Amino acid sequence: MSKIVVIGSSSIDLVVSASKRPNAGETIIGDSFKTVPGGKGANQAVAAARLGAEVYMIGCVGKDNYGNTILDNFRNNNVCIDFVEPVTHSETGTAHIVLAEGDNSIIVVKGANDYITPDFINKAKSVIQTADIVLIQQEIPEETVEHVAELCDFFQVPLILNPAPARVISENVIEKAAYLTPNEHETSILFEDMTKEEALRKYPNKLLITEGRNGVRYFNGEVEVLVPSYNVEAVDTTGAGDTFNAAFAVALSEGKSIENSLQFANRAASLSVMKFGAQGGMPTRSEVERNL
Ligand code: ATP
Repeated sequence: MSKIVVIGSSSIDLVVSASKRPNAGETIIGDSFKTVPGGKGANQAVAAARLGAEVYMIGCVGKDNYGNTILDNFRNNNVCIDFVEPVTHSETGTAHIVLAEGDNSIIVVKGANDYITPDFINKAKSVIQTADIVLIQQEIPEETVEHVAELCDFFQVPLILNPAPARVISENVIEKAAYLTPNEHETSILFEDMTKEEALRKYPNKLLITEGRNGVRYFNGEVEVLVPSYNVEAVDTTGAGDTFNAAFAVALSEGKSIENSLQFANRAASLSVMKFGAQGGMPTRSEVERNL
C-alpha cells in the first residue's frame, strides 16, 4: 500500500439553496440546507483513501462540533488523523455557500486552517519523510507551502502542488514541486506573462493543466499531450479537481507513468462528477478499475 501525506484545509460547507440571492438588507425564504464536510485538503485525503492508499492528513480543526464532524468523517474514510490537531484558539473553518439562479457564491472563513504554520508542519516531519508522495493545496498560509516544498526537496519526497485557490507562487516552490496541477483559470494567474503553450513548454512533465470535461494537458519534452477525460452525465462538478489530484497521487505512488496516472485521475474525477457533493461522488478503487 502506498503512503500519501495530504497537507491542507479541512472545513464544513454550509450550503443553502434558494430561488434567488438576497439583496443587502433583504431576508428571503430558502429551499434547503445541507452541512457537508469539505476543504480541499480533506477532500483530497478522503479521495485518496477511497482509492486504496494509506493516507495521513496534516491539518487543524477547531475544538467544536464541526471539528468533531470532520474528525469522524476522516475516521469513517480510513484517513489517519494522528496529525490533525483540534485547536482551542480558533473555530473550525467554514464555507458559506449559496446556490441560486444556477450559480454559487461562497464566503470562506479560514478559521483553524490558518494555524497550519511551518512550526506546526515540523511536528509531522517523521511522516512527511517516509511518504511516497505529498499532496498540498493553497487554502493554507503561503509560508507553509514554501516550507513544505523545502522539506520535500530535502527529504527527496515528490510533492504535488495543486495551486488552488490561485495565487502567484515563487520560482523556488515551482522548482521544488515535482508536479503542478492548476486548472485553466489558475494557470492564467500563475503564469500571467506567458501563453498556456509557453508555460507548458517551460515545465515539461511538471505542469499538468486540467481542462474540465476535456481532460488534462502537459508537455512531455517532445510534444504536447492531451489526456482526454471520459464522457459522463455531470451532476455536480464540485470537487472534481480534488478527486483528480488524489487519484493522480495514488497512481504515481504505485509507480504508474505520468500518462497512465493522468488517465486514472481522469477516470476517478469523471466518476466523481456524477453525484452530488465534493465527497459524495468520490469513487472507490474498484469503481475506477471497473470503468478504466
Ligand atoms: P473543481 O474546482 O470543480 O473541483 P477544477 O476547476 O479544479 O475542479 P477541472 O479542470 O474543472 O478542475 O476538472 C478537473 C478534472 O476533473 C478534469 O481534468 C477531468 O478529469 C475531470 N472533470 C471535470 N469535469 C468533468 C466533466 N464534466 N466530465 C468529465 N470529467 C470531468
